[in-house]
Amino acid sequence: MQNYGLTSVSEFVGDRIVYRNLDAADERLPRLADIRAAVGISGNTIPRKSELDYGRVIVHLLQSARALDAPGTSIKRLIFVGDTHMNDGTAFINICRAGNWPGLAFIGAEKNAPPQADVTTLEGYPLYLANRWTLLTDFDAFCARQGFPVDAHTAVVLDLDKTTIGARGRNDHVIDAARVTAIKRTVGDVLGATFDAARFQAAYDQLKLAEFHPFTADNQDYLAYICLVIGSGMYERETLVADVRAGRMPDFVSFIRAVEARAADLPDNLRALHADIYARVQTGDPTPFKAFRYNEYRETVGRMGMLPADAAPEDLLAREICITHEVRELMLRWREQGALLFALSDKPDEASIPSDELRAAGYAPIHRTLTHVVGA
Ligand SMILES: [Mg+2]
Repeated sequence: MQNYGLTSVSEFVGDRIVYRNLDAADERLPRLADIRAAVGISGNTIPRKSELDYGRVIVHLLQSARALDAPGTSIKRLIFVGDTHMNDGTAFINICRAGNWPGLAFIGAEKNAPPQADVTTLEGYPLYLANRWTLLTDFDAFCARQGFPVDAHTAVVLDLDKTTIGARGRNDHVIDAARVTAIKRTVGDVLGATFDAARFQAAYDQLKLAEFHPFTADNQDYLAYICLVIGSGMYERETLVADVRAGRMPDFVSFIRAVEARAADLPDNLRALHADIYARVQTGDPTPFKAFRYNEYRETVGRMGMLPADAAPEDLLAREICITHEVRELMLRWREQGALLFALSDKPDEASIPSDELRAAGYAPIHRTLTHVVGA
């Protein structure tokens, strides 16, 4: 491993990125509200990464971006680089389908096993599953062997979290640490002196498990809120776990309604926060715990580029959220070959973009924040 110095993701993607709200950082690109009308998405919802409508929005953005950079050049094929088989794989095939493009996807996750790449398919679309990020070089050769040129007719969609930054299996624990610290800080701020860190941690460690995903919807805002309520003493973790397992507390909405029914028992500041989150849940906001997400932004950028310029790569991977050298290197090459690069992040905008106040203090969106590049 080597430390390749400081840069930001914007070095290679510019502002060609969407966070969860699907409003591109590049303000020359159409807004989600306009895209909905253009591609026929009804309602006001923000499509999630696994939905076909998400693919349709991304295709519209890719075509708009290509028209700005290279008028008259059409996109004919798609490459996806990500880190999760099902989530990124599904986003990949939905973009291919919506664009009517052939595609190839690289899915990387560093594992403690001999280097290996498996080519498989997801609903007919090829996936190149690699257990080393260094295998991106082989993936480039694989694309060539497939007769898949990477040129001005190629759009490259790049997953941000745990791919471009915080490479899965190598550096992703630092992204998770930022989130958990943010939840802890938020809950600690609300509960003050009554905050019991051990009680909070036990609740978080158990309820984050897949067994409880039907209850938490695997939604980090919901999980943080549930741990907050347990931390306040209104619910015992053991009682709640038993209720969930017995089907008496089937989902998050049942839970927040049960809290609402007893809201008078909550301490003042927690009651106000509960009221805010409850109101946002009613309107369908999937990231209703705003204070947590603002703290997540602070904790995330606080782990970027803060170590000395000449820090050892092992220290950087342990404590910083680093840019994946292998991804950056290949993206710079592919951009040179004329490909359109576009990044996706599933993180809520509140956790990715500074508030006006922080922006004035010099903070930047995650893709424009300097951090170290580390890789083999
Ligand atoms: Mg990812």
